[in-house]
Amino acid sequence: MTVWEHKEFSEHERVTFMRDESSGLLGIHAIHRLINGRSGGGIRFYPYPTTDAALTDVLRLSRAMTFKMILAGVPMGGAKMVIIGNPSQDKSPQLLETLGHFIDGFQGAYSAGPDVGTTGKDMAALSKITQYVAGTGEGSTAVPTAYGVFRGIKASVKHLLGRDDLNGLTVAVQGIGGVGERLSQHLHQAGANLIMADINETAVARIAQETDAQIVSTDEILFQKADILAPCALGGIINDDTIPKIQAKIICGGANNQIAEPRHNQILHQNGVLFAPDYVVNAGGVVSGTAEVGIIPQNEMQIRLDAIYDTTLKIFKLAEESSILPEEAAVALAEQRLKELI
Ligand code: NAD
Repeated sequence: MTVWEHKEFSEHERVTFMRDESSGLLGIHAIHRLINGRSGGGIRFYPYPTTDAALTDVLRLSRAMTFKMILAGVPMGGAKMVIIGNPSQDKSPQLLETLGHFIDGFQGAYSAGPDVGTTGKDMAALSKITQYVAGTGEGSTAVPTAYGVFRGIKASVKHLLGRDDLNGLTVAVQGIGGVGERLSQHLHQAGANLIMADINETAVARIAQETDAQIVSTDEILFQKADILAPCALGGIINDDTIPKIQAKIICGGANNQIAEPRHNQILHQNGVLFAPDYVVNAGGVVSGTAEVGIIPQNEMQIRLDAIYDTTLKIFKLAEESSILPEEAAVALAEQRLKELI
C-alpha cells in the first residue's frame, strides 16, 4: 500500500518522511491543508511501534488540526509532525537543531508547537534556528486551553440542561496537570463541586485543597456520579470498557482523542450522553499559539477563546436539527468554513 491509498490520507497536501542519520532523526511530517499559504501543528515525540502507526497518527492528527484551526477561527491549515523515538532517550540538541532547519525550510508554510513528548524548552531550542515556532513558554498554552474547555462545559450545560450557570453541578476531572488544574480553578470559582484524580498524588492533594475537591482513585474517576466528566489526561479513555460505567451525561474535557473509535460517538449518543468534540473545546492553545506568532492579532485572542462557547453550542444545535452526532456536525461545520476560505 502507498501513502496515497492509506485509509487516513484524506487528501493531504504534503507528506514528508524525514531521516537524518547523524542526529538519529526519524519522523513524518504531514500538511493536511495550507490556508493563506500557512499551516500549523505540534511535534509529537513518541516511540511508535511501527512506521504505519506513526503514519496513521500523523495523518489523523494533521486533519484534526485543520478542523481545530477552522472552528477556532484561526486562518491557517492543519499540520503535524511525529518523531519516532523515546523522547527521554533520543531527544538531543543535535536532533532539535536538525528539526529546526527542517521547519525553517518550509519558510513559514509550517509553524510548529509542542505536543506529547515535546516541551516549551524544546520549542525555545528550535526558535534559535527558526522563527516558525510557537509555545516556547513552559505550560503557557495550558492556561488558554483550560479556559476554552471551561467555555465548552458552559455551552454543554446550556444545551443539555438549559442553564447559564454551573452552581452546584458536579464535575469529575481526570488529570490535574497544566489544563486540569486551571480548569478546576475556573469550575470552583463558578460554583461547581469537584471530584478529581491524578497519578501524581502530591499535585492532586494541593489542588483539591485549593478547590474544595474530593479526591478519588484514578481507576474510579471516570465512573463518578457527576453531571459532567472532564477528561484532561489521556486519549482513548472513552471505549467499550468504560462507556457502560460512565454516569455523567456530559463529557467535555481537554484531552486529545478521548474517543477510542468513531463508533463510540454513536454509543454515547444512544446512552443519552452529550460529548463535546475535544478538538473544538481544547483549541485555546492553538488560539494563543497563533496569536504568539502573529497569525491572529493579540487583541483578538480573548474573542476567539470566548467564541469556543458559541461554536460548541452551534455544533450541538446543528447535530440536533440534522439528527447527526456532534462529531459529524463539527466536521460538517469545519468543511463548510473550509470551503469558504479556500
Ligand atoms: P499534563 O501532562 O500537564 O497533565 C496531564 C496530567 O494527567 C498529569 O498530571 C498526569 O499525572 C495525569 N495523568 C496521567 N495519567 C493519568 C491517569 N491514568 N489518571 C489520572 N491522571 C493521569 O498535560 P496537559 O497540558 O494538562 O494536557 C492534558 C491533556 O490535554 C492532554 O491530553 C493534552 O494532549 C491535551 N491538550 C493540552 C493542551 C495544552 O495546551 N496543554 C492543548 C490541547 C490539548
